[in-house]
Amino acid sequence: MGDPYFPTMGNGGYDADHYDLRLDVDPKNNFLNASCEMKAKALQNLDTFNLDFRNFDIARITVNGEEAKFRREEGELIITPKEGLVAGQDFNVKVDYSGNPVPYQSTHAPITIGWNPTDDGGSYVLSEPDGSSTWYPVNDHPRDKATYKFYVTVPNEFQAVCNGVLSEKTPQGQDKTTWVWDANDPMASYLSTVNVGKFEEQTQTGPNGLPIHNFFATNVSKNAKKDFERVPEMIQWFSDRYGKYPFETYGNLVINANVGGAALETQTRPIYERGMVTGDRRLEYIYAHELAHQWCGNSTSVQNWKDIWLNEGFANYSHMQWKHEHDGSFKKLDRAMYQMYMFLPRNSPPVVDPGENDMFSENVYNRGAVTLHLLRKDLGDESFFNCMKTYFERFRGKNVTTEDFISTVNEVSGKDKTEFFDKWLRQSKLPAWPGSPLGAQA
Ligand SMILES: [Zn+2]
Repeated sequence: MGDPYFPTMGNGGYDADHYDLRLDVDPKNNFLNASCEMKAKALQNLDTFNLDFRNFDIARITVNGEEAKFRREEGELIITPKEGLVAGQDFNVKVDYSGNPVPYQSTHAPITIGWNPTDDGGSYVLSEPDGSSTWYPVNDHPRDKATYKFYVTVPNEFQAVCNGVLSEKTPQGQDKTTWVWDANDPMASYLSTVNVGKFEEQTQTGPNGLPIHNFFATNVSKNAKKDFERVPEMIQWFSDRYGKYPFETYGNLVINANVGGAALETQTRPIYERGMVTGDRRLEYIYAHELAHQWCGNSTSVQNWKDIWLNEGFANYSHMQWKHEHDGSFKKLDRAMYQMYMFLPRNSPPVVDPGENDMFSENVYNRGAVTLHLLRKDLGDESFFNCMKTYFERFRGKNVTTEDFISTVNEVSGKDKTEFFDKWLRQSKLPAWPGSPLGAQA
């Protein structure tokens, strides 16, 4: 796909539209019997095409129902259909595979990603940025979003929780059940997830009747209910600031595992390690962070990973607003942002295009958030939140670049902020905090 940080991620020549994922999970033996069917459109004539896929044994691949030849080179699955595909043609490719899923140590991720075991004998999946191809064949880049349907069969003592809406639960003989989940909102592959565990389900209702289904690992569910109590209020609050919540459903998932202090904004169903449940709402700002990502990162996805600040700077500023402004005041937020500013390195890789090893650096999160805060102070609340609403509305379900955000701000605010963004996002040197630092008196 030509992403400079991930030259082998994603593939050109076609556009994936939908994945049907069928996974028969044997948790005891950590074994998957699976098939993945991708529906796509050829964008050019294709004699062969690639998917991203690692590990597993492949039993068979068909393209439009006919057996296809294939070979594998590292993370690439190269498929040669019996008949070449013609530009504009809809096609489907089905891969039958099986084996033990293996956790993935990506050089780009701070934690182990892919399919991992939990402490209750189940498993969880976190895949940002490049872990999806370690558990199903996929065009693995946020630029090629698709809808998903998951059919996950698990022994009856477990539940299977994925993205989207639970549409069916079908018993398979005496001992197993197939959980069918529809993710109808187009989704970047790294946000797809399948989790097997023992959960207590809790239902809430968000703004405009938005269904919220939380799944809490049974050993922490009592405290989790308290921690996640204010999620409907949170969705309302961010909707007022950023525009309508972008998806058909929401819900949080707490797994029975600790995974290195991690949470991930998996689409419509963020995942938290069990250590993020405290029973006193102390880590509520993290739930606000993952919720905000539904707007920034999930609905509007990066065109290239170098623009990751559009996810993380925005989500970071969002959780700071919830923590310091919703439960405090603008003055309190301003003080907290000044403090964040004071801890920024005076010189750093730029926020936009920080280099592949600094994608998830604290600087991208924090200097990105400070940039948004100072933009807000300069434009005033009305204009700033109009910019945000227009940006999220205009690019809903699409991909974005930093330039898209800047041009939206310039247009909606009627001010040319190009130089401001250059200074804050593209230069190494940290600019001075403008005006009198309120926080200095704190
Ligand atoms: Zn984040």
